[in-house]
Amino acid sequence: MEGPTRTRCCGRQPEAYRSTSIDRDWSQQDAGPLHVGTVRCMYCGTLLMDPIPSPQQMAAHFADMAYRSPDQEDARRRQKIGTYETAVALAQRFGRQADDRPRACDFGSAQGHGLEVLAAHGYEAFGVELDADAVRHSRAKGHTVYHGADLSVLDSVPPLDAIYCIDVLYYVADPFGMLETAHRFLRPGGVLLVRMSVWGETAYLASRLSSRSARLRQYASALLCDHVVGYSPRSFRSALTRAGYRVVAERVDPSFSHLRRDRTIHWHGLRVVSPVMRLLTGGRLHLLPSPIFVAQRPGAN
Ligand SMILES: [Zn+2]
Repeated sequence: MEGPTRTRCCGRQPEAYRSTSIDRDWSQQDAGPLHVGTVRCMYCGTLLMDPIPSPQQMAAHFADMAYRSPDQEDARRRQKIGTYETAVALAQRFGRQADDRPRACDFGSAQGHGLEVLAAHGYEAFGVELDADAVRHSRAKGHTVYHGADLSVLDSVPPLDAIYCIDVLYYVADPFGMLETAHRFLRPGGVLLVRMSVWGETAYLASRLSSRSARLRQYASALLCDHVVGYSPRSFRSALTRAGYRVVAERVDPSFSHLRRDRTIHWHGLRVVSPVMRLLTGGRLHLLPSPIFVAQRPGAN
């Protein structure tokens, strides 16, 4: 089954795209490399992978990435837990939460590290995960996890106080649809917490200059990695507003502060020197790799 060819970034006419020159090899386990390009939304400037991989291709791809060595798994766990602690503190500060036992969903719950943190903070936590192995793995640890590619699997769950979407939205085939669905599942006053790369503008700039330099073409592709969507901070804020949210906070994740301190950044397997990244990001290295956006569903309870 093929996925949709194009997708929605900001909710406006989804056919209004312009091709860009960023080509990426997007490999999957069984079927070999999938050659994809990039299109740019003419309304919001967001970059989107073209064509969008199907959910089956996504599952095959990320199942491979989820299991490397135990060392990597442990490093990933520590990093994830730091990020979720930050996100929970933001939800408690900016969201309106039930006093007794707030309900939360971790969308793209992977190995269940986020669910661990949510449970420790007293949440009744639900995971949603596409990869069947990860679902089994986290269920075995006692977590409640639904198997699926989107939030609609939560239909029987009462309204949620918070939805966590940490490092996931850029892998979602219909990102704007996800924002709309999350809005529907939140109680009024509840919050959506999203961390994602905001490399859209930088990658586009690099792609415009790439006719002069193969190195820049390589950087443009690396900035987007295997991401389906590359928002800029501005286009993402605007997408949240269009989906009905009020953006109440934007915070850099302190668990990534080492990336700003060190001269050499190890990032997605690349060894990158900070001044180069500073140049490419227009001095906005503080956004590396991304802030956490806190978006509230308005309305009285
Ligand atoms: Zn758009």
